[in-house]
Amino acid sequence: MVNYKELGLVNTREMFKKAVAGGYAIPAFNFNTMEQMQAIVQAAVETKSPVIMQVSKGARNYANGTILRYMAQGAVEYAKELGCEKPEIVLHLDHGDSFEICKECIDNGFSSVMIDGSSLPYEENIALTKKVVEYAHKFDVTVEAELGVLAGVEDEVSSAVSHYTKPEEVIDFSTRSGCDSLAISIGTSHGAYKFTPEQCTRDPKTGKLVPPPLAFDILHQIEEKLPGFPIVLHGSSSVPQDEVDTINAFGGKLPDAVGIPEEQLREASKSAVCKINIDSDSRLAMTAAIRKHLAENPSHFDPRQYLKPARENMKKMYIHKIVEVLGSDNKL
Ligand SMILES: [Zn+2]
Repeated sequence: MVNYKELGLVNTREMFKKAVAGGYAIPAFNFNTMEQMQAIVQAAVETKSPVIMQVSKGARNYANGTILRYMAQGAVEYAKELGCEKPEIVLHLDHGDSFEICKECIDNGFSSVMIDGSSLPYEENIALTKKVVEYAHKFDVTVEAELGVLAGVEDEVSSAVSHYTKPEEVIDFSTRSGCDSLAISIGTSHGAYKFTPEQCTRDPKTGKLVPPPLAFDILHQIEEKLPGFPIVLHGSSSVPQDEVDTINAFGGKLPDAVGIPEEQLREASKSAVCKINIDSDSRLAMTAAIRKHLAENPSHFDPRQYLKPARENMKKMYIHKIVEVLGSDNKL
């Protein structure tokens, strides 16, 4: 049993309170590799931003949960080494699908967990979330729950259709489950293909797909019912067109990849939305840099030669999100 406090990590409670009051959102970046971890920490330190480093089931399968936990511990020490006296880093389990996996993470130093019972019937979702909350709160670990279903594919989480969160259920759910924050469904979606071309319109000038707008009316109704309660948006990558273009220009094939426009995420950050999950954009930034580097330098075979520009490109993207989209810079 390791408590996250021994590792220098923090939970999300104070962080979210300040974010809701201050009208900004905390970045939640998924990580699987050392280069992603380094880029996240460098970006957070340089912009003086709190940050959530999150681990999905796919990340645990790929990199091993124990290794990722030690990497998060290393992230705290690395941030200090880079000159940040008091880093605010959360280690969060993304899409925990059982009590057992949440317990295992809590027992191994995670400071925050998500229990995703959104595919269960409503009462079962409450019961499962409540069970996780009761265990987590004994150790001052915070719990994110989910109500409503997002479409798209994210590691092993997938659904063909979305169901928007029903505002009338939100008070009942959060009160009875005791969750600390709630992921809602208002039209964001997992993965790099968030919408089919049929769901979008086409910009007549560029020919690019324009996705349907987020359901801000639902978000505002939820804010009115539960003032100040922390809301989370999943599936909120923007799928930057320049990265997609670079990938396609250097041998990739990502036709019609489309994400959530940054203006809409900027607007959401100013509301009760205090955590925004970004995963695909990091994958795209890494892949674009690697494809470009290898195409331009066919003789290179040392992974450091192409992982270095990949890390730089991810860092640039993380800084852009923190400063230009979420507004979490200068909050430490
Ligand atoms: Zn998600």
